[in-house]
Amino acid sequence: MNQPNQHELPSYLNPDDLGPWGIYLEQVERVAPYLGKLGKWVETLKRPKRILTVDVPVELDNGTIAHFEGYRVQHNMARGPGKGGVRYHQSVTLSEVMALSAWMSVKCAAVNVPFGGAKGGIRINPRNYSQNELERVTRRYITEISMIIGPDKDIPAPDVNTNAQVMAWMLDTYAMTTGHLATGVVTGKPISLGGSLGRVEATGRGVFTVGVEAARDAGIDLEGARVVVQGCGNVGGIAAKLFQEAGAKVIAMQDHTGSIYNENGIDVATLLSSYNQKEGITSTNAGDALSNEEFWALECDILIPAALENQITQKNADSIRAKIIIEGANGPTTPEADDILSSKGITVIPDVIANAGGVTVSYFEWVQNFSSYFWEEDLINERLGRMMREAYQSTAAVAKQHNVTLRTAAFISACTRILEARELRGLYP
Ligand code: GLU
Repeated sequence: MNQPNQHELPSYLNPDDLGPWGIYLEQVERVAPYLGKLGKWVETLKRPKRILTVDVPVELDNGTIAHFEGYRVQHNMARGPGKGGVRYHQSVTLSEVMALSAWMSVKCAAVNVPFGGAKGGIRINPRNYSQNELERVTRRYITEISMIIGPDKDIPAPDVNTNAQVMAWMLDTYAMTTGHLATGVVTGKPISLGGSLGRVEATGRGVFTVGVEAARDAGIDLEGARVVVQGCGNVGGIAAKLFQEAGAKVIAMQDHTGSIYNENGIDVATLLSSYNQKEGITSTNAGDALSNEEFWALECDILIPAALENQITQKNADSIRAKIIIEGANGPTTPEADDILSSKGITVIPDVIANAGGVTVSYFEWVQNFSSYFWEEDLINERLGRMMREAYQSTAAVAKQHNVTLRTAAFISACTRILEARELRGLYP
């Protein structure tokens, strides 16, 4: 039975440009036919549960006042508290944070960690501000969203341009606001404040783990395999290093300053040890400069977009000559590009599986915080590896069963889990 508002867009969206949220909506459309009776709940997935937009006023070092716009979106919390990072970037929009929060719901369900999906963001270019200014921005933002976060409500974590220090400010602000120190309110914290061993490397390690599985399935030997990585941060940098340690050749890397190419393989460990985010990759002598078009068109075995969304689109998908794409970033491939890649026989390991290593170790961190008993790094990496391999293999099995892409398969498993919980809980009040 059709409800009158069934297909209306939420009023806060611009119908002419849905942005990343539009990409997510198309992905949900593709999964709807596979949801059986649970399909009656699918509209839930197309509307975030809660959206908070906040003004973040801050005194700058020069005495003037600046205002930034911040968001925390809780997409779905049927399976557990909200979980997801906070991003600081000049291009953050509500549509982007909504999409990222929904991808967190799908991701947590796809790898079966007991969280719902949430995400936060502030529209700010952090490179233009001092550490003290960023501390004030962080503390004011957390104060503004403090009523909807908490260790059993919604748990922020690092994302693009945020790190363990930012999490420490968040934890402290929340503790000062509530009057007690609940370390489980954020994950990705410094170790000395209840953080988990292995968390910093977890996302990159997860990307590598599923890459090993997919390479084996595709008959690619990692020894000498050609790998191309977009991003030099926590995800791309670590993944590149692990692939190189496994014998692969990282022939090209890209960051916000441009791309570099080295046919013999970039020495990733050396590059990262001296990497300066402000100056970027093009100021190093690790490789020769390459245009953006040439970067995407490089012939390679594994291509890892590990920066921002909307990178592989109708414009460049056809030029891609990789065998496997592992999405270290969230939302790097548009649905149109997905179709082009699949028609070319390129395997895409979707973000909701490929980069789930971060939230998986966030889950371990949160569990350790509740028991105040900390695990050894070997145990963490072993459990992470097991969960990533299981998620990849079960997704591959669903893809085979329904003859769909790995993305649609991951969405089938994840949305089924979310909507099962939704139905069991029922509508109340
Ligand atoms: N920001 C990361 C992601 O997109 C990690 C989120 C978390 O650990 O909660 O998956």
